[in-house]
Amino acid sequence: MNKILISNALILPMTETRRSFTGYVRARDGTITEIGDGATPKIEADESILDAADCVLMPGLVNAHTHLYQVLLRAVWEDLELMPWLKRIYGCARVLQPEHFYAGSLLGCVEAMRSGVTTLCEHNFLNPGPECAFETIRAIKDSGLRAVFARTIMDTGGIVPDCTKEKPDQAFRRIEEILARHERGDRLQFMTGPNTPPINTTPALLSEIRRFADDKALGISAHVAESKSVVECVRRDHGKNGVVEFLHEFGMSGQKSVFAHSVHISNDEIAILRETGASVSHNPVSNMMLGDGVAPVVEMLRQGVNVALGTDGAASNHSQDLFDTMKSASLLQKVHHQDAGVIEPYAVLRMATAGGAKALGLDSLCGTIEIGKRADLILIDVDNIHNQPVNDVFSQIVHCAKASDVRTVMVNGEMVMRDRHLTGLDAKKILADAKIANRDLMRRVSELSF
Ligand SMILES: [Zn+2]
Repeated sequence: MNKILISNALILPMTETRRSFTGYVRARDGTITEIGDGATPKIEADESILDAADCVLMPGLVNAHTHLYQVLLRAVWEDLELMPWLKRIYGCARVLQPEHFYAGSLLGCVEAMRSGVTTLCEHNFLNPGPECAFETIRAIKDSGLRAVFARTIMDTGGIVPDCTKEKPDQAFRRIEEILARHERGDRLQFMTGPNTPPINTTPALLSEIRRFADDKALGISAHVAESKSVVECVRRDHGKNGVVEFLHEFGMSGQKSVFAHSVHISNDEIAILRETGASVSHNPVSNMMLGDGVAPVVEMLRQGVNVALGTDGAASNHSQDLFDTMKSASLLQKVHHQDAGVIEPYAVLRMATAGGAKALGLDSLCGTIEIGKRADLILIDVDNIHNQPVNDVFSQIVHCAKASDVRTVMVNGEMVMRDRHLTGLDAKKILADAKIANRDLMRRVSELSF
């Protein structure tokens, strides 16, 4: 039996009630079995001890929306707004190779892990061949992170290259092949969805996806109302007021749906999200980078919509760092509303933990520190110049702490990073392989015309 005791930590359980206390957490075979305040209890035989003095112990962060391989495309096309940018991202499908997906995704996972992420949702949308998805999943499994692989579909749109447009039956067969190859369980779950409706999914495909997702018990992940141009398209071509309203007609909005971005949505559409139980992944850094706009996060929270946080891919964020994203989420709402008190740090921290777990349907497993949940835990060193003195730990994790303060990361009770050393991965080799993949991809991209 794997027994671990983490003692002397400043614990943030991140449950609905805001509280913090100094104490200990025990885990047995990956499950949290005991939480206590005060001194370390009697140590049991065969128990590993982790002294967490000067550290905050909190649930691992949940990145509810990313495209891992895009770390290979950091700072490429960074001065373009959504549509011309997307044309280039989609265009990459013409030259992307399975090895790019593996090398890039593994580097993305390492970056995520080193910034305290224990669970992520990979929104997969370029599939010139089935191997691209297989290699991404192989990288995620090799990393040791908990993940949801959302294999989405596109069937129309002038900016989508033919090699990555799919007929519904062809796409469903490929997803069935993914499901047949991988056991669905606590560590790896699957979703599907339309990638960026309606610009690259037809109404017929949406109906088919709903039927397929129900048949296979899959959640839905989609890019929703990311820019004004997408909303203009749904108004012009489909006579709807907004993308959420349009998707709702096809039953896309539901308890197992994660609508990434949801920047340009109305109050009526926020009400649809609340009534149907859909979640939103808020991706503020990506939205700012592409000049998309500001998502109505305060209004969504006020109406009771579950909001998670995502980095989005590194092609529109430059990093996989959720600390960066938390601080941006907080500051963006303050400046947008010109009100310093418009959003609580605790609400932001909840989005990055419990909100993310709920969005991905994993809230019975992770997202908070509670007895019976899996030990997805991170230790953050706060005994350093930029974190001291600690006056308000919740505000300071959001506004002061850095990804590099994460000392130790545990997934399912397994230490995947200890004192910033990756226990099961060769970071140097992963980085070297990613550089090779990057050079090869950039050479191929340079031969494309957009
Ligand atoms: Zn995205």
